[in-house]
Amino acid sequence: MNDAYRPPPVTDDWDWRMLGRCHTRSASRFFHPNDDMGRVSRRLREASAKLICVSCPVRAECAAHALVNNEGFGVWGGFTEAERILLRQSGWRDALDGSGRKADVSRLERRLRSAGLLRAHPARA
Ligand code: SF4
Repeated sequence: MNDAYRPPPVTDDWDWRMLGRCHTRSASRFFHPNDDMGRVSRRLREASAKLICVSCPVRAECAAHALVNNEGFGVWGGFTEAERILLRQSGWRDALDGSGRKADVSRLERRLRSAGLLRAHPARA
């Protein structure tokens, strides 16, 4: 077995969540209700969540957590469910720091953007 690469641990320290900009906000902005099948409302909700994430002091930790733990739902670290699926397909592990607890979100955004897969950020559109 090639031991040059060791995957990061699947559990992590959740203390960073206390510093997240979403900490005191409703989770409904970051997670879709089960009965929400509308694409427009989903996009608006995701755009609203991403606006909060973009200036979050623990965005790197949050993005890493979602990718490492394969979070299937919601906006984490400024990335939607669909964007995380695309990152899993195009690669994301090289964007983690040595501890596996922080992700270089700029690198991940560039990867999505270069593949034409990153939606314009509402604040930059
Ligand atoms: S990056 Fe977004 S989802 Fe993650 S802790 Fe910060 S505000 Fe919350």
